[in-house]
Amino acid sequence: MLVSAKDMLQKAKAGHYAVGQFNINNLEWTKAILLTAQELNSPVILGVSEGAGKYMTGYKTVVGMVNGMIEELNITVPVALHLDHGSYEGCLKCIEAGFSSIMFDGSHYPIEENIAKTTELVKITSEKGMSLEAEVGSIGGEEDGVVGKGECADPNECKSIADLGVTMLAAGIGNIHGKYPDNWEGLSFETLDAIQQLTGDMPLVLHGGTGIPEDMIKKAISLGVAKINVNTECQLAFAAATREYVEAGKDLSGKGFDPRKLLAPGFEAIKATVKEKMELFGSVGQA
Ligand SMILES: [Zn+2]
Repeated sequence: MLVSAKDMLQKAKAGHYAVGQFNINNLEWTKAILLTAQELNSPVILGVSEGAGKYMTGYKTVVGMVNGMIEELNITVPVALHLDHGSYEGCLKCIEAGFSSIMFDGSHYPIEENIAKTTELVKITSEKGMSLEAEVGSIGGEEDGVVGKGECADPNECKSIADLGVTMLAAGIGNIHGKYPDNWEGLSFETLDAIQQLTGDMPLVLHGGTGIPEDMIKKAISLGVAKINVNTECQLAFAAATREYVEAGKDLSGKGFDPRKLLAPGFEAIKATVKEKMELFGSVGQA
């Protein structure tokens, strides 16, 4: 059964580790992430962007697939199914479809409008026992067509949003989505520290986890980050393993063209990436 991300993130914040959000794109992704979480006895958050939801034909398909897998793979660790960077309308659709967690990305609205819309969603999600992630300060890079500049959030605005009763808060601290450029200046720990000082127990969320050096990840966790989003890294691992299989000509030998064989190396690569991240974040054994 799907659960809200609230308990797992409050436990993580108190225990000084982070829970990974791994974005899913299809059956292979979902199965690889769920099986790895179960093997490592780790809580896990499955992230679904609006684009990925559309790709998988809609949110109801996603909910059906994830619930089916949890039952048929005997997954007993806590699993949250979370909308990533949702629009207001997207959030309402996911609530309706049976997600257990949503992110409302109101960072592109003026702060007053972000507050008004977030307030509405706090009301709905708390009635349904769901978790809600809010965002302050846009997170750079490209994600489903939204391009930002890797800015740092205003800690006072973070406090205004945190006080509305959201479950977890994403704030720009110089992080970006996708691959980091060579001239990236790193995370702003001053900003993160100031946000944590003002928001107290609120679990903080780090987006764009791909390519942030391990020591920065660990420092961010020590400063209150309890949820880290991983997306691009699984995609790169899947693509590299699939490329290797095809370039070795394995799809041309015997029944190597069978999708269950063709996609197997990519599946294993996602599992290895998820394992590596769960170990780094410290969520292993915390289910
Ligand atoms: Zn993000």
